[in-house]
Amino acid sequence: MKDNYNKSIQFRCITCGDTDFDFKDDKAWIKCNRCGKEYNGGYYELVELNQENINQELEKNKEEIGKDLQKEMTDMFKKAFKGNKNIKFK
Ligand SMILES: [Zn+2]
Repeated sequence: MKDNYNKSIQFRCITCGDTDFDFKDDKAWIKCNRCGKEYNGGYYELVELNQENINQELEKNKEEIGKDLQKEMTDMFKKAFKGNKNIKFK
């Protein structure tokens, strides 16, 4: 579940806004495949430049996680209620 949430965060090229990057040397150097912009600071530079975007995504995910939990709780209550209805006295 955690992996899925992480995948929704996408880094964008600050020059063209594309999300297609070329990674090298364990992300120590990153190049945009579309416009050729090079990030010599690698992954960390890209993270820093995308900080606002990342924060927004995290906020969105927080709400998503909250909704999932709420749904789970509702289902649990529904099941518990259904169970109670099925109790029969003989
Ligand atoms: Zn680019």
